[in-house]
Amino acid sequence: MEPKYKRILLKLSGEALAGDKKQGLDYDVVCAICSSIKQVHDLGVQVAIVVGGGNFWRGRSSEKMERTRADHMGMLATVINSLALADALEQMDVDVRVQTAISMQAIAEPYIRNRAVRHLEKGRVVIFGCGTGNPFFSTDTASTLRAAEIDADIIFKATMVDGVYTSDPVKNPDAVKYDTLTFAEVLNKDLAVMDSTAASMCKDNNIPILVFSIEDPQNIVRAACGESIGTMVQK
Ligand code: UDP
Repeated sequence: MEPKYKRILLKLSGEALAGDKKQGLDYDVVCAICSSIKQVHDLGVQVAIVVGGGNFWRGRSSEKMERTRADHMGMLATVINSLALADALEQMDVDVRVQTAISMQAIAEPYIRNRAVRHLEKGRVVIFGCGTGNPFFSTDTASTLRAAEIDADIIFKATMVDGVYTSDPVKNPDAVKYDTLTFAEVLNKDLAVMDSTAASMCKDNNIPILVFSIEDPQNIVRAACGESIGTMVQK
């Protein structure tokens, strides 16, 4: 199999790591996802990862807590997920570095753009923890920011649905999946691809996003080889 991309930014939702429990970590699921990441890595693709934290804590959904503190907790949740992914990948003999946007140097490297690029060039998977390091942002925005910084070819948004639909397919059985979309359509139709900050950043920086389901982790390999799965969003 020939990869289509040289450098990808894989965005994993926190929920993707929880399996059927929907909360916390299911290590078998983590290992299945990492096994697909390893396959993509072994094809020679440079892989950077941003992982969410929703399987532990989502600051924006915490109603009673002060938002900034709630977001700090959400960013810490992303670090737990980053470390779990790093552990599983290392056990598969993949070289990994975790870099966090908020310094916690006993646990991970601080985020340094040039160092991250160097790791990728040396064939190391780089996992970015703590999102952007700022409250009021999401890990989708962090994915866009890091993808722009490291000049990734594309963002793979691996999520719980198999693409972008005209409306929520869980609530509306008549919802139809898009194969392709433009960023303008995503923004104008307010489609639930990612939050509007992240979507407009992708638009402004011309970074395509492929949205697909992680329920079958092999989709990461299919996506890397350019198979038409999910929904492609581009200019
Ligand atoms: N978060 C934040 N700043 C960031 C990224 C994330 O404050 O740059 C916090 C925010 O509280 C968010 C939580 O971390 O709800 C987990 O991230 P997200 O909700 O994006 O995770 P996902 O839904 O992808 O699992």
